Amino acid sequence: MREKFLSFSLPLVGAEEIDEVVAALKSGWLTAGPRTRQFEQEFRDAFHCPAALALNSCTAGLHVALKVLNIGPGDEVITTPMTFAASVNVIEHVGARPVLVDVEPDTLNLQPDAVAAAITPATKAIIAVHYAGHPVELHSLRSIAEEYRLELIEDAAHAVGARFEGTPIGSGTNFTAFSFYATKNLTTGEGGMLTGSQELLDRARIVSLHGMNREAWSRYAAGGKWAYDIVEPGFKYNMTDLQAALGLQQLRRFDRMQARRREIVNRYNEAFSRHAAFLTPSSRSHVENAWHLYVLRLRAGELTIDRNQFIDEMTARNIGTSVHFIPIHMHSYYRDRYGYHPDDFPVAHAAFRSMLSLPLSPSMSDQDVADVIEAVLDIREKYGRRRMAA
Ligand SMILES: *Cc1c(COP(=O)(O)O)cnc(C)c1O
Repeated sequence: MREKFLSFSLPLVGAEEIDEVVAALKSGWLTAGPRTRQFEQEFRDAFHCPAALALNSCTAGLHVALKVLNIGPGDEVITTPMTFAASVNVIEHVGARPVLVDVEPDTLNLQPDAVAAAITPATKAIIAVHYAGHPVELHSLRSIAEEYRLELIEDAAHAVGARFEGTPIGSGTNFTAFSFYATKNLTTGEGGMLTGSQELLDRARIVSLHGMNREAWSRYAAGGKWAYDIVEPGFKYNMTDLQAALGLQQLRRFDRMQARRREIVNRYNEAFSRHAAFLTPSSRSHVENAWHLYVLRLRAGELTIDRNQFIDEMTARNIGTSVHFIPIHMHSYYRDRYGYHPDDFPVAHAAFRSMLSLPLSPSMSDQDVADVIEAVLDIREKYGRRRMAA
């Protein structure tokens, strides 16, 4: 058993990131400035986005998207219960009503048929989450959005580098929000990127910085103009050049980091998929999974312990794990406000009860990976149900 606790998700930050942040500190420009603009351009080019706006979080991106699209009181937004609270909280922030629908049993992404069935005259938008890095069925959701004249907003917090039918997530003209939170595939500590058409992003830029009518970040630069106008009460959601410095170097190592994630996923799949006790994550053939998470599910009746006990056993073996996610409708605010029961979304609920996320980070050594596998198989050996021979 390993002696030192293995964190669920350690970021990979090297000398290049440290040097770039120091250079930003010495440059005299700390907040949004030249490095932020450069990070936007390099991100846009890397993932074929029409345009990109760097923000201080993915949550900010989703909030700004709803604001720009004029979604508010009286409107409904369809989304998934299998997500982090941020995807749904922003709907409450603008005064609209979140409408949850159940997920597909394999990908745990929004079920397009369930989305179509939930549409009412008040429906204005769909927020689709690319769960764990596996893209949603974009064709189906896009055609539903077109048919009913709804906005499609993608929560791509898990999906930097993912592709749907060969096309990068973020390359569409609709709003797509990425996260660079400390645990995400590419990190700036805290941060996010909102992508979409130039026209949408021009409006988002204003909403994200106080409602100032022009590139206010450059008003203190040589040749910058002091005058500005507030055209609406906007937010303070900009990225800083210190974060962008991290992001620029993370982008340089991104392909290598993703390759290491895939290696680890393959080793986990090889070790676990032959055991009846486990349901390993799968990818549909027309997508490229960004593998943000490795979600292992325990098959009902195969073990004498439940998911919570399984996690305790992992912790006892010094392996950090997590659960993604406690479904939205089980949180007290949403449960009480909308009168939800756990079984209202049976697929999400059953998945939640059986799932745990194993450590998955490009900072893991081969020994770390071997330790995780050893711990999982040891628990299975100890608590697997013995079957009578036929
Ligand atoms: C992490 C996460 C977010 C929030 O990202 P922040 O950058 O922390 O705001 C939103 N949605 C999902 C699905 C996430 O996992």
